[in-house]
Amino acid sequence: MVEQLFHPKPGSKVRLSNFDPSDRGDYDRSKADDEEDALEQKLASLQERLYAEGKQALLVVLQAMDAGGKDGTIKHVFDRVNPQGVRVTSFKAPTPEELAHDFLWRVHKQVPAKGYIGIFNRSHYEDVLVVRVNDLVPRDVWEARYRHINQFEHLLADSGVRILKFFLHISKDEQKERFQERLEKPDKHWKFSTGDLPVREKWDDYMRAYEDVLSRCNTDYAPWYIVPANRKWYRNLIVTRTIVEALESMNPQYPPAEPDLDKVVIPD
Ligand code: ATP
Ligand code: MG
Repeated sequence: MVEQLFHPKPGSKVRLSNFDPSDRGDYDRSKADDEEDALEQKLASLQERLYAEGKQALLVVLQAMDAGGKDGTIKHVFDRVNPQGVRVTSFKAPTPEELAHDFLWRVHKQVPAKGYIGIFNRSHYEDVLVVRVNDLVPRDVWEARYRHINQFEHLLADSGVRILKFFLHISKDEQKERFQERLEKPDKHWKFSTGDLPVREKWDDYMRAYEDVLSRCNTDYAPWYIVPANRKWYRNLIVTRTIVEALESMNPQYPPAEPDLDKVVIPD
């Protein structure tokens, strides 16, 4: 079970130095790829059942430092799933209209409806990460947000939304390598932003802010998973397996067929 390995006990104080971003369990690439293949097929059929049933939703939250692999995770984990049943929302710096509301206003609107899988590429957690590290609001404002987030997620969970939150954990060295690759390969230049460099300089502040998120907002109803993400294939495996296990436990059912289908004759 993924559960015990990467999901810290709710309420426990998380120290990221205890989690190795290069961990790969007892997997090598080919064993992981075989398992990934089987899991992605399962994911596709579970998603179809979720959609057909139309009674529950799944929300997947992805958070990571720049180049942490949020985009790659979405691309690989969900590549067999029917796009009709999945909605990806990427949260950028808030617009003036969004800033004129409470911080969860723009988030709540994007929560998946029953039958759907919603993926958040960044999320309401930015409001206690980038916002905290850069003092974008006073301390008492962001301090209260951990509680607001837990209450919000509790509401969603009570409303039939299963929540899974993934922190894709890469090392600072791995980020450097990925930035370097973006600089060297012309087809990756578009992914490089010099604006990511000042964020990298604050790496330790971000790690502290992440540790608080992972300690204070890790609940039974909305668990955090700390995914070793230096190896992309292992990261994909852990995320896919966690999602498949959650969907299996949600156990979506096809709705009952219309009565007397066996007597239906299709006219010529
Ligand atoms: P990529 O990895 O492809 O660059 P990205 O998620 O980094 O994707 P960007 O458009 O580069 O996308 O960055 C989005 C930016 O918006 C991030 O710097 C993030 O910190 C910022 N952001 C998101 N939510 C908030 C928020 N609530 N307040 C302030 N900034 C935010
Ligand atoms: Mg970026």
